[in-house]
Amino acid sequence: MTTELIRIRGLLENFEDFVRAGNILKDGGVVAIPTETVYGLAANALDADAVKKIFTAKGRPQDNPLIVHIADFEDISKLVLEIPESAITLAEHFWPGPLTMIFKKSDKIPAEVSAGLSTVAIRLPSNKYARAVIEAAGVPLAAPSANLSGKPSPTSAQHVMRDLSGKIPMILDGGTCEVGLESTVIDLTGDVPTLLRPGGVTLSELRKVLGTVSVNPKILEEVSDNEPVASPGMKYKHYAPGAPVVIIDGDAESFKNYVLANKTDKKVAILCFDEEVSLFEDSDLSVVSYGSRATPSSLAENLFSALRTLDDISPDIIYARQPDCSDGIELAVVNRLSRAAAFTHISL
Ligand code: AMP
Ligand code: MG
Repeated sequence: MTTELIRIRGLLENFEDFVRAGNILKDGGVVAIPTETVYGLAANALDADAVKKIFTAKGRPQDNPLIVHIADFEDISKLVLEIPESAITLAEHFWPGPLTMIFKKSDKIPAEVSAGLSTVAIRLPSNKYARAVIEAAGVPLAAPSANLSGKPSPTSAQHVMRDLSGKIPMILDGGTCEVGLESTVIDLTGDVPTLLRPGGVTLSELRKVLGTVSVNPKILEEVSDNEPVASPGMKYKHYAPGAPVVIIDGDAESFKNYVLANKTDKKVAILCFDEEVSLFEDSDLSVVSYGSRATPSSLAENLFSALRTLDDISPDIIYARQPDCSDGIELAVVNRLSRAAAFTHISL
């Protein structure tokens, strides 16, 4: 299959491309689309056969459910059994935007989307091109990240091309993603709203609006084999470059000394903050920075792209730096990086 890459210049300029993308989706095909979080691989969420094509193209485990994307809050009513008050409050504050809410699902949602669970994840994206595609398709779109399963999520159309070229008919290139990490996931089906995955909408923002929000502890812990989890995605290593990643905690000077002392004859790469690049300027190490420690949103925006750059370097090992944990966007960065590192930490 040839993959058509379409550079989007605007809603009007590319009107016919949106119609074509909508038609592919209506006919049961898949299309990669830009969103404000990461690129998504979309299919008609109400068509089980279409949804299966997502799993095939990505090599995604069948038991990992998909997020359903809508263009209008009203679209939700057919997809869920009930809309809790908390969902309306959250939608008023954070939709459209990088927040996914979990509801009890209606029978319109095929088991392939919910991976057999009785719940469904729903999001209303703020990216205008994503919404234009949903409207052109005229159906809600199931859309996980448009990467090969296990690879870092794609934050540019070129990342999608690298992973899925030849496997899907169309990629809409809407430029780089604003947030750079996948959406925040909050479960609204229990007594207390529970954060299942940190993302662009932060824990502190959620608590400001809802009051109590509990946090699933598995956000920052390794899940052992066969352990039951609230969100199937927690089980998978995810976001991993080819080389092992080790997170090094401690001050910049100790970090530098540790890396230089443990270098031996390995091909070492460093993932660090902009502020730390100069530490290694006299070394022969490959140094990739992913933003400023002082601007955590820049770390979120660039993390996945940096992991892909590291993959291209093919090092034997990657020593990585992460921000301090907080109830801000840092929590999402730490969550993704911890998973890329399979929770391997060294504290200096
Ligand atoms: P992705 O689309 O690749 O960003 O992954 C979607 C994430 O949402 C995964 O971590 C899933 O486990 C999670 N998710 C989707 N549907 C549900 C659900 N019904 N209950 C809990 N988690 C879900
Ligand atoms: Mg994903």
